[in-house]
Amino acid sequence: MVQSTTLTKEVEAAESYTARIFETVKKRNPSESEFHQAVEEFLQSLVPVLAKEPKYEAAGILERLTEPERLITFRVPWVDDNGNVKVNRGFRVQFNSAIGPYKGGLRFHPSVNGSIVKFLGFEQIFKNSLTGLPIGGGKGGSDFDPKGKSDNEVMRFCQSFMSELQKYIGPNTDVPAGDIGVGAREIGFLFGQYKRLNAFDAGTLTGKGLNYGGSLTRTEATGYGVVYFTQEMLQDKADSLKGKKVIVSGSGNVAIYAIEKAHELGATVIACSDSSGYIRDENGINVATVKQLKEQERKRISEYTTHHPNATFVANGDIWSLSADIALPCATQNEINADQAATLVKNGVIAVAEGANMPSTLDAVAVFQENDVLFGPAKAANAGGVAVSALEMAQNSIRMSWTFEEVDSHLKSIMKNIYKNASATASAYDASGNLVVGSNIAGFLKVADSMLTEGII
Ligand code: NDP
Repeated sequence: MVQSTTLTKEVEAAESYTARIFETVKKRNPSESEFHQAVEEFLQSLVPVLAKEPKYEAAGILERLTEPERLITFRVPWVDDNGNVKVNRGFRVQFNSAIGPYKGGLRFHPSVNGSIVKFLGFEQIFKNSLTGLPIGGGKGGSDFDPKGKSDNEVMRFCQSFMSELQKYIGPNTDVPAGDIGVGAREIGFLFGQYKRLNAFDAGTLTGKGLNYGGSLTRTEATGYGVVYFTQEMLQDKADSLKGKKVIVSGSGNVAIYAIEKAHELGATVIACSDSSGYIRDENGINVATVKQLKEQERKRISEYTTHHPNATFVANGDIWSLSADIALPCATQNEINADQAATLVKNGVIAVAEGANMPSTLDAVAVFQENDVLFGPAKAANAGGVAVSALEMAQNSIRMSWTFEEVDSHLKSIMKNIYKNASATASAYDASGNLVVGSNIAGFLKVADSMLTEGII
């Protein structure tokens, strides 16, 4: 499972430990392929640390890290506009609180199940650790699909969802935010119901509207952060975004602000997508049009061509078949497989940074790395969103609001630090340039060392 150059006794022992843990995870969580994938990627990176530091195995750190502290599943009944009773399933995984209260988004999408929530929650532990801020790992959501629902239906669903979730969250316990299908509208309804059942406590949720405790730059943070991270990877090779051709998948929150920042830094984004296909605009995607279609009108990306007749829409097309210098997957998990990665390489891609969570399969990551493509893994590259969420919590605590420029400047320096930490850690463990290894180890050490000092809990 793990490659190493010198197969010493310690390395063998570490490999056998990670293999045992992976088998247990598969047995305990059968058919949860996304969760298995996230754990496998993580364990593959840890062998050098475990070989050097037997204290982690002695304290059962991996056994405890791979088992959520708590997994909550609940019924979410609601009534649609025609008076029909509907039932969805709600989830919250409180994965690890070694370094702070659980923190992570809520996803509303028909594909949401225990495996998806666990993979996202597991990744969140190390992503949050990498930000350098005191936040533990959690995630949640529902198989509810907001697409095609009226505002009233979404409101009734959110009220029912929060009526149950509010028992388990709070500013010092667990602080949810948005993710796929959960944007400003949903956060508003969720916050309203929390307040109605408890009290006004701005620190309960992040991604709030600016009028009631939200932070400037939170909307932009994940997308901007991915581009800041890409810029760091390029700068280390004496290169920049200037003049680069970029493809961004998705056209939601992360994608929109990745496009905006890439353009600001001199690149041209020539394509973006949604689940129905992709649009291609060689003049550069007009981000104002995408915002209007997606943030305001809730329309499909295909409508872009009615505003820009020079652009083309390819229904069910594969956005990764296009040629570009940089690829920023910002839609969903496993959207790039090994064949698509090979096509990107053949077409000249030099850098890939993951805006979405786990958008590349394990094989796809291997293709990028074997071909010396600069590769920024999700837990490092998209950590800007949760980092600014933590800054929103800080502003809520001190009852102050910082300016856009102040938060953006914190975001920039956090992304720079994450890059430097991941890169330096990779070099320290004999894996120079491998940001997957660097991010996993750096994220792990802070959490594992905290767990060691907190006793067996
Ligand atoms: P949004 O709901 O705003 O947008 C999601 C976009 O991805 C939409 O364009 C959607 O298309 C597309 N998409 C979703 N699921 C699929 C699918 N199964 N197949 C094809 N396209 C799909 O979500 P976000 O932008 O917030 O999130 C995107 C990714 O970024 C997720 O992986 C999320 O976990 C990750 N992320 C988000 C953060 C945030 O702050 N929002 C923070 C860190 C990571 P359609 O509308 O057709 O479904």
